[in-house]
Amino acid sequence: MSKLFIGGQWHVASSQDSIPVFAPATGEQYATIGRGQAEDIDLAVKAARAALAGEWGRLSATERGRTLTRIGVKILDHIDELAGIEARDTGKPLALARKDIEALARYFEFYGGAADKVHGEVLPYLPGYSVTVQREPFGVVGHIIPWNYPAQMLGRTLGPALAMGNTSVVKPAEDACLTSLRVAELAVEAGLPAGVLNIVTGYGREAGAALAEHPGINLITFTGSPQVGTAIQTAAAKNYVKCVLELGGKSPQVVFADADLDKAVPIIVGAIIQNAGQTCSAGSRLLIQREVFDEVVARVAERFCQMRVGAPDSAPDCGPIITKAQFGRVNEFVAYCRDSGLPVLAEGILDAELPSAGYYVRPMMFGPVPRDHRLAREEVFGPVLAVLPFDDEDDAVALANGTEYGLVAAIWTENGARQQRLSRRLEGGQVFINCYGAGGGVELPFGGIRKSGHGREKGFMALEEFSLTKTVVSHHG
Ligand code: ADP
Repeated sequence: MSKLFIGGQWHVASSQDSIPVFAPATGEQYATIGRGQAEDIDLAVKAARAALAGEWGRLSATERGRTLTRIGVKILDHIDELAGIEARDTGKPLALARKDIEALARYFEFYGGAADKVHGEVLPYLPGYSVTVQREPFGVVGHIIPWNYPAQMLGRTLGPALAMGNTSVVKPAEDACLTSLRVAELAVEAGLPAGVLNIVTGYGREAGAALAEHPGINLITFTGSPQVGTAIQTAAAKNYVKCVLELGGKSPQVVFADADLDKAVPIIVGAIIQNAGQTCSAGSRLLIQREVFDEVVARVAERFCQMRVGAPDSAPDCGPIITKAQFGRVNEFVAYCRDSGLPVLAEGILDAELPSAGYYVRPMMFGPVPRDHRLAREEVFGPVLAVLPFDDEDDAVALANGTEYGLVAAIWTENGARQQRLSRRLEGGQVFINCYGAGGGVELPFGGIRKSGHGREKGFMALEEFSLTKTVVSHHG
């Protein structure tokens, strides 16, 4: 039976129970993970608290940074092994899994280097006073991680937390957590003191909920669905604990008549196909200026039809969906779109002879989608592209900003003044001009507004998000 990683050691879950792990590529069970519950979370929080008071709490920022850098190197030394684990666990193409592991390493390298570059401030105040603003760790951070980019998310959230001197309890997604368990082991080998990083696998409603409501947690980070984000924030509020939430999106790609289509088309298709559309920042709405609607649709559809769905080790454009449940949800959404009469503009290709129990779906491109249709507003979290026309700049902005979400947006235009205007008017945490996506953009602050969540991760801003300020006022006359 698989175990939990607490205090630098492997523990059998207190429930003595386990959860089966299925390979999305074949639908077959190939492993189990421990079914951690409240008692295990409590043990992990205590281990993390003890680690704060131990060697870790006494390390200089430089030493903390060096430790993170060593973890990054260790991850790169094991890149083939880790990419293999990640691809099998999530079903994503091996090449993408490898990129994800590179990004994971990069988070440790970036935040390893950043750990001793965070400065406080000296403030002007009344005569006879000196005032400094210092940065301190929150304490124990609870990380609740989703299944779509498990390795990247682990690095994204652990990097800044550890760089700022916090300790961590991670609850990875029950559907994809094997990489995180191996990384925890490698981190200790790289010199991370025991108890700084604890991993409790288990169901969201058990281990996840126990972590969110644990009074010993000082900060929570969560990436996942808005519903679960709300539940976590509600639980955390009872303990007056801050949450950093990233909850997905319905991100627009806005294509104007003067766009460079040779450049735009492959990127537009990639932004919805990548990771089988299971990406918070997927470019799931393609908004096209009406006068070039047919031309752009034809170009995008031509490429879309070439997208190949296959097993992770067959170098496909698109792998299977992560779980049977999610597979069912995507298929239901697609059936609803067909039943409601949405025109199909393009479909991807399923490889012949795919394992019949694997969770493969055919990428779909629908349009023109009415603005009030569910596909124009709701996140599918699958390879389904909604195409909508717009008239002019004002209409494009209204349409792009017109969902409950606000995570990222892209503008495709050669007009420099329009690029600047739109980058100011489009709402969300990132705007891309003639490019898309920041999967590997460890340096680039990322996060949403409204239903996409709040707080900023990545880049130096995450270091602020994962630390507290203390203002020290000294009167010396
Ligand atoms: P999805 O619905 O796409 O599977 P979720 O938002 O449910 O994504 O899951 C993301 C993470 O949140 C996973 O680690 C999951 O176990 C966890 N989770 C799910 N439900 C809860 C909950 N009620 N409290 C805390 N964590 C949860």
